[in-house]
Amino acid sequence: MNEKKLCPKNMTREELKGFFSDMGERPFRGVQLFRGMYARGLSSFDEMTDLPAALRRILAETAALFTLTPREVLVSRPDGSRKYLFETADGHLVESVFMRYDYGNVICVSSQAGCRMGCAFCASGLGGLRRGLRSGEMADQLLRARLDTGEDIGRIVVMGVGEPLDNFDELKRFIETVGDAEGLGIGRRNITVSTCGLPPGIERMAEELPQVGLSISLHAPNDRLRDALLPVNKRYNLAVLLKAVRGHIARTGRRATFEYALIAGLNDGAECAAELARRLRGMNCHVNLIPLNRVEETGFCGSGRAETERFRAVLASAGLQVTVRRSLGADIHAACGQLRAKTLSKIGG
Ligand code: SAH
Repeated sequence: MNEKKLCPKNMTREELKGFFSDMGERPFRGVQLFRGMYARGLSSFDEMTDLPAALRRILAETAALFTLTPREVLVSRPDGSRKYLFETADGHLVESVFMRYDYGNVICVSSQAGCRMGCAFCASGLGGLRRGLRSGEMADQLLRARLDTGEDIGRIVVMGVGEPLDNFDELKRFIETVGDAEGLGIGRRNITVSTCGLPPGIERMAEELPQVGLSISLHAPNDRLRDALLPVNKRYNLAVLLKAVRGHIARTGRRATFEYALIAGLNDGAECAAELARRLRGMNCHVNLIPLNRVEETGFCGSGRAETERFRAVLASAGLQVTVRRSLGADIHAACGQLRAKTLSKIGG
């Protein structure tokens, strides 16, 4: 793929209209291209037969319809979830997971190639941050999965590799693009963004994307533990983070989700559960417990069933809404960044 080519998927519908009128074409051509890429999900400019043949030829020569090339697909035997490894035009690896739930299909999208947050238990940050993804690169994870499965995808969770609030402008453009009624029409209420806890980004979400769901990767009930697991906590401690989350809930009227990965012997004791319950008391929130997926390089292990159930019970009896996440795709390295990290270490990237 030629990285100098124009990538129309990085533009919103309005920007495409402007682009075509600057070229001396009718702005409506931009809408047709937008529909061809998103609503119809076509895989070549040539299939966009509502565009004049000459224009299709120019596009085929000067523009790249896809920003990502598929490199690997792993299909989970037990649950049919699919893990994709893609490559950007400039050679970065990106991974995504397609999941089937009773309520429909969900795509877990990566927002950056790598990550600079450095969480101790996570595979995504092992090689640091390469760069933030462009909006079209986020959208193509969905469009590629839709082409591959032939199935519609109605929900998006931005919980793949990267910290989405560290790439806010492109995240916002992506949400705007996939939400466009002339394209995929995925409403903001069907999108959830997961963050390790960047209060300025949380405030921007409340102001600029109030309908989008907010999920916070908490993983610890106090600063001592959280400092050790998520370095970002040294910059924005729990009190500062929870204040931003409370502000988000007050501003949007939406319930927040806290993710809590249970790590054997570290943050899964009954005292941790009680401390967590105290901190979250009275908040309009939901706690999602996830037994940690093992990432060899980190040395951490996930909690067992008994510890997970004990932790859940303490939170529930304190009146918190709590669920244990059903883990899909454990056989295909579906945990964040695992496939990418494995491939990078194989190729020495
Ligand atoms: N940077 C964002 C989104 C990507 S991580 C965030 O931190 O939320 C998505 C979720 O997977 C986060 O809750 C993250 O903490 C969690 N996660 C990372 N590594 C994990 C592992 N080995 N097992 C279970 N969850 C993990």
